[in-house]
Amino acid sequence: MTYIIAGSCIKDDSCIEVCPVDCIHPKPGDPDFETAEQLYIDPEICIDCDACVEACPVDAIFPEALTPDKFEYALELNAEFFVERSTAERTAIP
Ligand code: SF4
Ligand code: SF4
Repeated sequence: MTYIIAGSCIKDDSCIEVCPVDCIHPKPGDPDFETAEQLYIDPEICIDCDACVEACPVDAIFPEALTPDKFEYALELNAEFFVERSTAERTAIP
């Protein structure tokens, strides 16, 4: 399973501070932070610890299995962010 960010993320980075495996991106200071519409959870790394859910001030984080139907699109959206990011890193000119 994984956790996902959906809906009303305000990019305040509370979840980043509590995530024990550093799987929420982009972070403040990253080149893509300002342009990102929300933050995303890397489904390959998330260990389903639930810490971010408690930390989020706007209830924008859900365990995959409990994601409301209207936010189901966000499962792919979160995963896609990391696919695009790793592609961009591989093709970046040093
Ligand atoms: S559930 Fe835990 S591991 Fe997964 S994103 Fe949230 S804080 Fe990080
Ligand atoms: S804690 Fe919630 S609102 Fe803040 S960055 Fe994380 S998902 Fe977005």
